[in-house]
Amino acid sequence: MAPKNDVDVSDGTCQGYAINYDYRGYRFDNIFLAGDAAGFASGPTGEGIYPALVSGTAVAKTIMNANYEAKEITALLQTKKIQNKAMDVIIKMGPLRNVFFVLLIQALKDKRVASRIVRSVL
Ligand SMILES: Cc1cc2nc3c(=O)[nH]c(=O)nc-3n(C[C@H](O)[C@H](O)[C@H](O)COP(=O)(O)OP(=O)(O)OC[C@H]3O[C@@H](n4cnc5c(N)ncnc54)[C@H](O)[C@@H]3O)c2cc1C
Repeated sequence: MAPKNDVDVSDGTCQGYAINYDYRGYRFDNIFLAGDAAGFASGPTGEGIYPALVSGTAVAKTIMNANYEAKEITALLQTKKIQNKAMDVIIKMGPLRNVFFVLLIQALKDKRVASRIVRSVL
């Protein structure tokens, strides 16, 4: 691959790691979980930076103000519900998952399709 922006990735390897998206709650009496610890990351995409920032901020505000309504957590959970449904479908595909991901990557190359998919899942 030709170097772009002076970054040579020709020796790069693809690596991954498991990401916890198994949300079971974020508040347990006076113990709070945020980000990956609470399983706020997206199952289908593995994106967890945004939910970590949002949930961390919401937890901090809740600790500082007992009456704080963490509406941003409600919003995160609504998105997660959709993501989990998508994840259930992907898991049930079994070996067809590989074909699905190849097709998905192709589809994401089209900016309009990509934008629709991203808006519906994130
Ligand atoms: C390979 C990979 C690629 C990813 N790519 C993306 C991406 O492109 N976009 C995206 O949005 N998300 C991505 N994610 C997910 C994202 O990294 C996480 O969702 C996000 O970092 C979660 O933030 P966090 O603050 O909850 O946890 P972390 O970032 O894991 O921070 C937790 C911190 O706590 C520290 N810690 C743990 N135990 C203790 C302890 N006992 N005492 C003190 N400190 C402790 C850890 O060392 C760590 O620094 C990726 C994850 C992986 C694994």
